Amino acid sequence: MDRVLVLNGLTCGQALATAQGLGLERLDAQLLLLHALGKPDTDRAWLLAHDTDSLAAATWQHFHALSQRRASGEPLAYLTEGKEFFGLPLHVDARVLVPRPDTETLVEWALDRLARSGMPPAPQVLDLGTGSGAIALALKKTAPGLDMTAVDASEQALAVARSNAARHGLAVSFIEGSWFDKVGGHFHLIVSNPPYVAQADPHLAALRHEPLQALSAGPDGLDDIRQIITQSPSHLHPQGWLLLEHGYDQAAEVCNLLRQHGFTEVQSRADLAGVLRCSGGCWQGLGGAGIKTAG
Ligand code: GLN
Repeated sequence: MDRVLVLNGLTCGQALATAQGLGLERLDAQLLLLHALGKPDTDRAWLLAHDTDSLAAATWQHFHALSQRRASGEPLAYLTEGKEFFGLPLHVDARVLVPRPDTETLVEWALDRLARSGMPPAPQVLDLGTGSGAIALALKKTAPGLDMTAVDASEQALAVARSNAARHGLAVSFIEGSWFDKVGGHFHLIVSNPPYVAQADPHLAALRHEPLQALSAGPDGLDDIRQIITQSPSHLHPQGWLLLEHGYDQAAEVCNLLRQHGFTEVQSRADLAGVLRCSGGCWQGLGGAGIKTAG
């Protein structure tokens, strides 16, 4: 029998079952099938209502190829080329890390800081290692008055971030450079979700489809965080804050580093899973209280 004719006969329900047979979660299979059908991911009810509809051969083939890629570990967001972060739909692909819900903790903390008295009407905010632009765009969308700058060392990541900014009509200044190398001036708030996974961490194997330079940072995962903490004081206004995302077991060490470099009010915040996921502190300015080293 002709193979294409057989494939042509598959129903939505059978296609989903085939994908689950490859090891996919039912939800992932549904979202990929909606993507192959050109339907929004809010249309899962449509799939239920059309369980016995036959798929066109081209749709089935597209869906099956996506399912195989998902089964081999590619993030769903790369296959559907989209991820919602802080309510903002973003384009993502293999040029950038997929934004994680954990990182919304950092955005919420940054917004809390920006809502405090003492902030000027247009606070200067810097996002280091912006990737898809998730943090910078979520902040600018929620607090349009911000003077938002976002940096990334990857030209390819910046192309993604710029297109996400354009898609949402958000004015962010983008700079290509490593951490502070190309950054001038001072900021009221610096935020970053830098790479922080130790280079020998076995979890990296499961993340092999995402850019390694956005994930891994030296033997203890803290190489980039150390650099950011060391260099931030010369880019913060007095009373400015530095807020960092870090690994599940790095809060104590990041807080130590912040104190060693003269930050005060050093504290951590937990993500939705209750893990201390972000740490930060206030830079009083040179001559301020609590400075142990200006280095
Ligand atoms: N939270 C990510 C993970 O462990 C890592 C992100 C990062 O290194 N900034 O999957």
